[in-house]
Amino acid sequence: MTPTSPAGPAAAPRSARALLREVFGFAEYRPHQEEIVDHLVAGGDAFVLMPTGGGKSLCYQLPAMVRAGTGVVVSPLISLMKDQVDALLAAGVSAAAYNSSLEAGEARGVLRALHAGELDLLYVAPETLMTEGFLERLRGLGEPGSGAAGSGAAGVALFAIDEAHCVSQWGHDFRPEYVQLGRLRGLFPGVPIMACTATADPETRDDVRLRLGLADAAVYVTGFDRPNIRYTVVEKREPLHQLLQFLAAHERESGIVYCLSRKRTEEVADKLRAHGVEAAAYHAGLPADERRRVQDAFARDEVSVVVATVAFGMGIDKSDVRFVVHHDLPKTVESYYQETGRSGRDGLPADALLLFGLGDAAVVRSLIEGGGRGQNGDEGFERDPERVRIEIHKLNSMVGYADGLSCRREALLGYFGEPYPAPCGNCDICLEPPETFDATEQARMALSCVFRLWERDGFGYGVGYVIDVLRGSENEKILTRGHDALSTYGIGAELSRDHWQSLIRQLIHRGYLAQDIARYSALRLTEAARPLLRGDETLIMAKPRVRVPSKKQRLRADRAGRAADLAGMPVDEALFDELRALRKRLADEQNVPAYVVFSDATLAEMAARRPGTSAELLEVNGVGQTKLERYGDAFLALVAERASGGSAPDGSAPDGSAPGGLF
Ligand code: ADP
Ligand code: ZN
Repeated sequence: MTPTSPAGPAAAPRSARALLREVFGFAEYRPHQEEIVDHLVAGGDAFVLMPTGGGKSLCYQLPAMVRAGTGVVVSPLISLMKDQVDALLAAGVSAAAYNSSLEAGEARGVLRALHAGELDLLYVAPETLMTEGFLERLRGLGEPGSGAAGSGAAGVALFAIDEAHCVSQWGHDFRPEYVQLGRLRGLFPGVPIMACTATADPETRDDVRLRLGLADAAVYVTGFDRPNIRYTVVEKREPLHQLLQFLAAHERESGIVYCLSRKRTEEVADKLRAHGVEAAAYHAGLPADERRRVQDAFARDEVSVVVATVAFGMGIDKSDVRFVVHHDLPKTVESYYQETGRSGRDGLPADALLLFGLGDAAVVRSLIEGGGRGQNGDEGFERDPERVRIEIHKLNSMVGYADGLSCRREALLGYFGEPYPAPCGNCDICLEPPETFDATEQARMALSCVFRLWERDGFGYGVGYVIDVLRGSENEKILTRGHDALSTYGIGAELSRDHWQSLIRQLIHRGYLAQDIARYSALRLTEAARPLLRGDETLIMAKPRVRVPSKKQRLRADRAGRAADLAGMPVDEALFDELRALRKRLADEQNVPAYVVFSDATLAEMAARRPGTSAELLEVNGVGQTKLERYGDAFLALVAERASGGSAPDGSAPDGSAPGGLF
């Protein structure tokens, strides 16, 4: 069935390893890629669990090219297929997409190419694939390997189901049209199927295999670590200010800011624009063409920051997303990890920043309990109590992470059952260990203040009010209610408001205080507060951290990271910027996203190696034969020009912008 035998001389030019080098320009496989490729080439089914950016695409693209026939790739988002196909075409691979967005003429052209056996890869939407007509068409292509080479179609080489977790109702991206894909295994007995996802959670994983008929498939789980992502959590104080500071360290870079509600995405995007940031909002409530516009503008670097709900993301193929900010607390560690994972797919340094606010956990909790009505379009179904319980449990894990004082990477990977020996050296805790202090006395002051207010009035007050009482404010309400007579009035006057805010937040998150969202977020004591109040327990807390990582810190660490990656070769930053500008020009001419031409990682390597000949350029990761032919001269000319001393007069990039801050 396999058209090549790995050892035979005829096999050499079409072996997967040769294609990896010649077509994709990569010197080596990443972990597990080769096993998966070989398994599929040999006709086996595979279930592949890899983190975003791990390199799943090659795992089915290479076998589809090696095996006779066309590889059929099922992908949930039509908007993405075009970019994936463009990237393959740029590398010289014969690929096409077939979906409802094509004009009649284009669609006929794709089908003609399919029947002529000209396509190595065909991307289809699940609902298109599973129509009787289309299935019949695929069966009509014949058995794999039946057509003599070069003479017409030779069947389906394999099926690849991308974002396979969409088939499971357990996952967060359930798509009804995916359910039908479960029939494929029975319908095409001789054709290998590969399903891949980045969703780590074990229930979803098992459910996906079951639903796709892949219970017997070989399972490949690669490590979930994303070493180039730096995780940072800071206390949310003035989020806009914090965000602007953070963005100042990421000038001219692409990133995503996740918010909890649709309304907030628009507010934040507006404010960022008012401060001169090229930002756009994205959520499921926007018209489809607006969403497409934002996604395209982001892919083409015309919008640098997308402020979005979780609706933005699945399969964002842009490999040079340099940062992901969570403006609000995500509901689960799974979604946090998946969302942050959208940064740095090219392997270059990326930042994940979480702003953790005082009331955030309570807001999310009430959304879960109320079914998220009116939030992200999941309104209108009854909340199954078991499900609520699981979601609250997951939220608590998320809060535990955000409030944690140990290495973030250790905590994250530990959550996914992957032991990681801390310190990682690339998270806020490892880079700058938090200062702790004995907070027992202060905690008792706060708890007894909450208690006295309850005792006196029979109901609770919000955080701000409690702090006013603690600090002895002469606020009129306090005086008229007589709260200045409480024994706890003014006992915390020597500590700042911010300090109390942070302390109370930590007390809430550790379960000593509860916040009643339905009643103006009034505070009340929990059972856990008792031993602390009685003095049977001591409490160690972290001093709050509110400063986002500065540009200087970032540059220092990034430089170190890059130097190690490129085996000590320093990256010429000015050249890197010029290479990026050239890439943008070429991409615009062809109307494709910049990363389709070359990734940032490839350009960085070029700026370090400074290739002088085609052969040297081919040595750079990401430069294959077709790209060499297409773009080689332009990039070599630019490198040569700079080597001979020619450069933009003021050291800025030729497009007039300031040098970027990646290195
Ligand atoms: P995902 O698993 O998220 O689908 P992709 O397949 O898009 O990831 O790959 C992520 C990035 O890694 C891409 O830019 C891709 O070109 C690059 N990549 C994949 N495999 C290799 C490899 N063996 N060597 C170098 N880069 C690779
Ligand atoms: Zn760490």
